[in-house]
Amino acid sequence: MAVYNYDVVVLGSGPAGEGAAMNAAKAGRKVAVVDSRREVGGNCTHLGTIPSKALRHSVRQIMQFNTNPMFRQIGEPRWFSFPDVLKSAERVIAKQVSSRTGYYARNRIDVFFGTGSFADEHTIEVVCANGVVEKLVAKQIVIATGSRPYRPLDVDFNHSRIYDSDTILSLGHTPRRIIIYGAGVIGSEYASIFSGLGVLVDLIDNRDQLLSFLDAEISDALSYHLRTNNVLIRHNEEYESVEGLDNGVILHLKSGKKIKADAFLWCNGRTGNTDQLGLENIGIKVNSRGQIEVDQNYRTQVSNVYAAGDVIGWPSLASAAADQGRSAAGSIVDNGSWRFVDDVPTGIYTIPEISSIGKNERELTQAKIPYEVGKAFFKGMARAQISHEPVGMLKLLFHRETLEVLGVHCFGYQASEIVHIGQAIMNQKGEANTIKYFVNTTFNYPTMAEAYRVAAFDGLNRLF
Ligand SMILES: Cc1cc2nc3c(=O)[nH]c(=O)nc-3n(C[C@H](O)[C@H](O)[C@H](O)COP(=O)(O)OP(=O)(O)OC[C@H]3O[C@@H](n4cnc5c(N)ncnc54)[C@H](O)[C@@H]3O)c2cc1C
Repeated sequence: MAVYNYDVVVLGSGPAGEGAAMNAAKAGRKVAVVDSRREVGGNCTHLGTIPSKALRHSVRQIMQFNTNPMFRQIGEPRWFSFPDVLKSAERVIAKQVSSRTGYYARNRIDVFFGTGSFADEHTIEVVCANGVVEKLVAKQIVIATGSRPYRPLDVDFNHSRIYDSDTILSLGHTPRRIIIYGAGVIGSEYASIFSGLGVLVDLIDNRDQLLSFLDAEISDALSYHLRTNNVLIRHNEEYESVEGLDNGVILHLKSGKKIKADAFLWCNGRTGNTDQLGLENIGIKVNSRGQIEVDQNYRTQVSNVYAAGDVIGWPSLASAAADQGRSAAGSIVDNGSWRFVDDVPTGIYTIPEISSIGKNERELTQAKIPYEVGKAFFKGMARAQISHEPVGMLKLLFHRETLEVLGVHCFGYQASEIVHIGQAIMNQKGEANTIKYFVNTTFNYPTMAEAYRVAAFDGLNRLF
């Protein structure tokens, strides 16, 4: 068994692992990364964020083509299969792997492809695909092994019509009807993708409102647009059993209902990838979801072992994972790059897209903060009209006395980009974080960013 010595070994090459490895390497540390897949990028690149966003983008283009009157004159509505749109996702994955592989090479980071586990608190054993075992000894170790879909034992994921959010990427045909169980972010995004391809979707939610952490108006808007696009949302339902047949799948609900479809997609919960890490050898315990507890410095119970990304739980976003990984390495190298990541924007790539940052109306009302609302509807904005994107709204919540921006909530075209303008203003100190910025600033015209000016005027007009 070959033995290699490093300052820092990182387990996992998703956003958290990459963030940690790059920060440590840039601070002059000798770094190795281990990933059980034969390519870098993590589940983020291969199974999660990137493929789902690429799928959604293609589906949106198809929907635009089929609804834009200019294209309708050219040809009849076009139909594309799920494997068709998957091909474009595969091209993006390959490009991402190529650029990310280059980052490791440029920063002189060694990459080992194999499954890593702790022999002791300074030693990782890597079992490579060819069976060879390598031993990596490090002063510090960062666990960034991510998560996978939670699979309840009573659902047969070996059945050819039953999928989770990883295996759905192997779907080789377009079902006529699909049941999506779990109406969280991933379930709602896949409901948008499949309904955009003309598939009838049953979206099963065990709550009474879609994505209830969102601004209520935006959650309602999402429900409306999903329903308009042939998604049947069933609230307050829980599964009794999932029956796989040769010609379909039947979902038996506790309420007594039975739903039949050609395919079933499970999108309910995720589990941290900790079971193969040998954590018992170093005394780290995980919670019932397989997640590791860390302190404010991303340090685990073992002082030289850190953890970041999905493996530590909330918020389970690629955006936050990268910053958490970078911060974990920041604690190790002490170069001032540490920060605890808690001001995370929400980006939901449903159709329509949703994004928000800060407090929503429910939270502000509960906290008895006197706020006012300013709105801009996209249907009245020049850029949205030019782009044939009338669906959407920007909503600003601000303190009615200090005018401080307290929340930014957006849905529709470019929502996940638009929100960052508000985020930048909210992060300013003193009077620079007020709604006045938007009326005292000249925006390019026509832009979607101009929605801030419209919403700010709307809000200020409500003050007396
Ligand atoms: C369908 C879907 C859509 C999503 N969309 C978004 C989105 O739009 N925006 C967003 O911000 N987030 C999104 N997410 C969440 C995002 O993908 C995750 O938060 C992110 O991937 C977490 O990054 P990570 O670095 O913690 O781990 P991961 O990306 O999960 O990578 C962990 C890596 O560690 C490897 N590994 C595991 N165990 C071992 C071991 N023992 N040894 C070596 N390697 C190991 C794994 O193979 C994997 O390559 C989405 C997730 C899903 C499932």
